[in-house]
Amino acid sequence: MIVVKNLDSFYKIKSKKLFKKDILKAVESVSFQIEKGETLGVVGESGSGKSSLARAILKLQEIHGGEIFYKNQNITNFSKKEMFPLRKEMQIIFQDPYSSLNPRLTIKEIVMEGLNLHSKESDSEKEVKLKKVLERMSLKNDILDRYPHEFSGGQRQRISIARGLILEPEFLVADEIVSALDVSNQAQVLNLLQNYKKENDLSLLFISHDLNVISYISDKIAVMYLGKIVEFGKKSEIIKSASHPYTKILFSSSFKMNEKKKNKIKVVGEIPSVLNKPSGCYFHTRCPIAKDICKTTIPEPKQISKTHISACHFS
Ligand code: SF4
Repeated sequence: MIVVKNLDSFYKIKSKKLFKKDILKAVESVSFQIEKGETLGVVGESGSGKSSLARAILKLQEIHGGEIFYKNQNITNFSKKEMFPLRKEMQIIFQDPYSSLNPRLTIKEIVMEGLNLHSKESDSEKEVKLKKVLERMSLKNDILDRYPHEFSGGQRQRISIARGLILEPEFLVADEIVSALDVSNQAQVLNLLQNYKKENDLSLLFISHDLNVISYISDKIAVMYLGKIVEFGKKSEIIKSASHPYTKILFSSSFKMNEKKKNKIKVVGEIPSVLNKPSGCYFHTRCPIAKDICKTTIPEPKQISKTHISACHFS
C-alpha cells in the first residue's frame, strides 16, 4: 500500500543570524513499507519527527529527498492537483480533538465536509454513509445539529475519526489521536478503530509516544529518534527482543510493560534540539552504553533478522 524510500523532509526556519535561515531536518532517510490491512506503529518522544513523517508521506509538507509510492504509483512529485483524487483514499486524523474541529460548523457539516468535496453520490447515498459511520463510532444521530463545544474530548475524537472514515479511505494516518484522552476513552477509540480496520482491510500508520498504545494496535513498529528510525520490526520482535538501547529505554519507562520496575534502564537528560543534533549516533548523549565510536560514527541500520533492523554499533 505504502512504500517509503530514504525519505527526507526539512523545514527552513528563521535563524538567530540576521537574514539567514536554519534548516531543521525533521525526517532523515526514513524507509519502510505498509501492506494492505497492516498497521505500522511509529513511536518516539516528542520532537522525534513522527508527525513530520506523517505529514510528509501525505505530501502535506515539502519532501527534500527519497521517494513515496502509494499503490505502486510514485507520488513523490505529485502536484496538489494530482494529489486531489488521492486525498479521499489517504486520510489523516489529528492529535487535538479540540482544535481540529471547526467550532462554527455543526457535527453534520464537519463529518460530511470531505464527502461533499470528493463524492458525486446522491444526498440519500451520503446520508446512508453518514448513518453507518456514526454507528461505527458509537455516536448517535441526535448529535448532528450540535456543535463541537458540546462534546467531551473522547466524543470529539470519535467525531474526528468519523470525518476521516466516511470517505472509506484505504490508508489512514492517526497522529497521536488518543494522547489527549483518559484511559477509558483511549480504550474505546482504539477498539473502534481496530474493529473498523479489520472489517475494511484498512492500512494504518499509527503515531504515538506511548509504547503501550503502539504495542496494542500495531503489526509492525518503527522507533524514531531525532528524525531517524533507529529500530524497526514486527511487533513481536520489538516487544520480545528489542535491540536498540533507545527502544529498551522506552520499554523500561513504560509502566505496563515493566510493572515490576526491576532492571529499569534510565535515560539521561532531554531529547536534544532537532536544530542541534549530536554528532555520530544521535542518541550518544543519552545512551547508557555509548562508547567513543558512538560520538564520531553514524551507525548504519543492521539486519537483526529478515524483518528486524536496528541502527546501533552494538546491536
Ligand atoms: Fe548507544 Fe552507541 Fe548504540 Fe548509539 S550506537 S545507541 S550511542 S551504543
